[in-house]
Amino acid sequence: MKKLIFATNNPHKIEEVRSVLGDAFELVTLQEAGIHTDIPEPFDTLEENALQKSMTIHKMSGQNCFSEDTGLETDALHGEPGVRSARYAGDAAAPEANMQKLLARLGTSQNRKARFRTVISLILEGKEYSFTGICEGSIALEASGSKGFGYDPIFIPDGAGLTFAEMDRHEKNRFSHRKKAIDKLIEFLMEKV
Ligand code: IMP
Repeated sequence: MKKLIFATNNPHKIEEVRSVLGDAFELVTLQEAGIHTDIPEPFDTLEENALQKSMTIHKMSGQNCFSEDTGLETDALHGEPGVRSARYAGDAAAPEANMQKLLARLGTSQNRKARFRTVISLILEGKEYSFTGICEGSIALEASGSKGFGYDPIFIPDGAGLTFAEMDRHEKNRFSHRKKAIDKLIEFLMEKV
């Protein structure tokens, strides 16, 4: 089984990705790889942040690895919070604070169009490959649901009629930006096995 480090310590992301990967690969988390470094995300694009993470982990471990960076982009706020999604309401802000800031900034705006964008950076045998997954949707007027994480309670994927936080993991995967990016990653990896 091919071993791959997933450069994250977010248990929700690990669970989501494991549910898509199945048994095809042995997914190793940073913790399991004995890496306890907090990798900064200093750049203005998801692509650069994801690359910085995967390169850092590759240099530290010498192993094949991938990282992902995700942002929520709204049309009415010209792409906000975007690459700053995790720190929207300040460094180390709680997800609730980030959501409330976004709801407040949107106010009663009619234009609630938004999308999640995930960029995966894979380092395989020393070369970098990038995969993108997008989920189009809209921002609800208020938070609803208690599953998932991050902005899930206020994001309604197009065609769903529910927020991500009102869906179980399998339902979320029918729409998920991360699932789409992971599918591309898997398709690519299968060709390499
Ligand atoms: P990062 O990719 O961990 O840097 O995530 C950026 C921000 O987007 C964080 O606030 C996450 O909580 C949030 N986020 C990432 N993926 C998702 C998702 O699938 N649903 C809801 N929020 C997410």
